[in-house]
This record gives sequence, C-alpha cells and structure tokens, in this order.
Amino acid sequence: MRSPRVLSIETYVKCNATCEFCPYPTSDRIGQKLDTGIIHKIIDDIASSDVHPEFFIPSRINEPMFDHRMYAIFEYVATKLPRTPIGHFTNGTTLSKGHIERLCSTPNLGFINVSLNSHDPAEHQRLMGLSFELVIKNLKALHHVYEARNFKFPVNLTRVGDGTTRDTDFLRWCRSVFPLFHPTCRPRFDWLGKTHSMDVGRAPPGCTQWFALNFLANGREALCCIDDDGRFGTGDAHHQNALDVYNHPIRLALREKKLRSLHPACAACDASI
Ligand code: SF4
Repeated sequence: MRSPRVLSIETYVKCNATCEFCPYPTSDRIGQKLDTGIIHKIIDDIASSDVHPEFFIPSRINEPMFDHRMYAIFEYVATKLPRTPIGHFTNGTTLSKGHIERLCSTPNLGFINVSLNSHDPAEHQRLMGLSFELVIKNLKALHHVYEARNFKFPVNLTRVGDGTTRDTDFLRWCRSVFPLFHPTCRPRFDWLGKTHSMDVGRAPPGCTQWFALNFLANGREALCCIDDDGRFGTGDAHHQNALDVYNHPIRLALREKKLRSLHPACAACDASI
C-alpha cells in the first residue's frame, strides 16, 4: 500500500510518432530531459522501501531509446532495484538489430511492449505517422531472435482499439504473423480531455494507476499514465522523497478506499486501466 507497484520515469520527451490518440504531437514539453541525478534520486528513494516495484517503466509520452542514457539507467535499476524488471514500451521503429541485441541481453528486461496499433499500412500511417515497413521489418528480426534463443520474456503487440472489426482482424493477423508474441487491444481513452475516447460503458470503480508512481521529465509527479502534463500530480522529485509523493494523503486514500469520487480527475475519468 505504501510502495508503488510500478515506477515510471519519463526521462526525455522525444518521440518520432504522431499518434492521433496521444497528446505528444501538441505537447509543449517536447525536448524536456530529466537530470540524471534526479533519475537516480527517485530510484534511490524507492529502493529504500522494503517492497520493490513489480516493474520499472522508462516511458510516458516518449520513445525511450531516443534517450542515449537508457541502458545506463537500466543498469542503475538493476543495481538498486534488483527484483524489479524493466517494462520497455516502444513504437517499434527503434528496434534496430543493435538495440534488439542489447535489449534482449539486458538481464533485468521484463517485457517488451510494441505499440503497433494496426496491421494495415494505410491505417498505421494515418494513426501513427510512421513507416509500417520499418516496424514490421524490425518485428520480424525480433521474432527471429526470440525464437532462435528461446526467450521467455513476453513481447506484447498492442492496439488502441476503435471498437470495429479491425480490432479482431488485428489480433488475428498478429497471431498468424508473429505467433510467439501476444497481441492485445485496449479501448482508447481521452487523456483527461486532450484527445477523444470511445464509449466502453461505465468505468470500474478502482484504477490500477493508483498503485503506480509516475514522474515526468520536468521532475513533477503525474497522477497517472494519462496525466501527460502532470496537472493532477502534487509532488516534485527535485525536493521531495519519491515515497512521500506516493503516500500523499489523497493518493493513499484512493488506494485504501478505491473510490474515484475522492479525486476530481478520477471522478471525471472514463478510462478503464
Ligand atoms: S481513474 Fe483516470 S484520472 Fe484517475 S488515476 Fe485512473 S486513469 Fe488517472
């Protein structure tokens, strides 16, 4: 209850995608980079707890490998949080042969999540503004290495769904082309009013995000993974202990009572995360 299940740090706000369902393209935080000393301080603060996170995730609205410090950060996590695996989120364009080799050799790699979003080149281009051919080429290379070396860490291929038959077509296509990977489709949410969501009915009363601690590249805490600019966060890693940020009375009350009504952002949120 008093230590985060997931620690997420956005180290450098840089991405090459222009996803229509993400606030990155219009963010005024593009280019922000978190000082290495603050990244270490956050990890140190969390490491001082007896209970270590289930995952460390170095991403929010960024493509992690654009930060050249990333492997050094993974090593720092391995030293300070030896029981915490890395969750690597990517749009797939940075999965070059060199990165596949290095990433798959990272001892504390927990999973790779590729935000693929579509198996249709035209839809992929429209949704993300990236080269579908490059992503598929990289995924095939990853699948080949994964099979040849009998890796066991999960590789997820995710889609932000639109509620049409394209969602199930995507799942079917992924299973046939990349049988060792795990396709999933999630409903889109509106990033607290910044994009548009789809109607998936009533959101559940609780939220897994109450058990995650998220820091932005400016050092501020974000309430959750969809609080992209931290307007609902209360803490700042520059002058607060990360565990104290996680245990802010309102955040603690959300976890203990599991009521969205306790926080104005959660009360208005329709995300099922
Ligand atoms: S309920 Fe919505 S606003 Fe609240 S933490 Fe969860 S995702 Fe964020």
